[in-house]
Amino acid sequence: MHPTDGTCIFCKIVAGQIPCFKLYEDADTIAFMDINPVNEGHALAVAKGHHPTVHDIPADVLGKVAATAQRIARAQQKALGPSGINLLQANGPGAGQTVFHLHFHVLPRTAQDGELKVNWGHNPGDMARIKATYEKMLAAM
Ligand code: AMP
Ligand code: ZN
Repeated sequence: MHPTDGTCIFCKIVAGQIPCFKLYEDADTIAFMDINPVNEGHALAVAKGHHPTVHDIPADVLGKVAATAQRIARAQQKALGPSGINLLQANGPGAGQTVFHLHFHVLPRTAQDGELKVNWGHNPGDMARIKATYEKMLAAM
């Protein structure tokens, strides 16, 4: 059994209580599109268990989330051909963490996005566009 927190948005996604554009799922991890994408294809690789930060998560589970992030990065590369991909993972408010359930951002970069700030703002994405990109990435999984 994974630890869970009934008030946590990612635990609710893991439990299927709120929808997501799901790219991948295995016993310990899930990956889905970020609904406030910084760039096209921005996705999240998430532990199924409610481990708030790198300080809490068992190392083997962290490794599984990293493997899922790698799988998503490969699909992004194949489907979208970005000029680069960042894996980013925030711990604590000072690091810009807003959802206290461990996740990696898998973030395609473009030549045009300049020096993206590590603590970017959250702007709601266009759902139809996220869905279209999701379908391209899913086909490349
Ligand atoms: P962080 O700020 O590093 O904790 O990242 C949390 C991320 O979760 C942000 O990029 C949010 O846009 C994203 N997020 C929050 N709620 C949802 C949701 N319901 N579905 C998908 N992504 C979400
Ligand atoms: Zn949680």
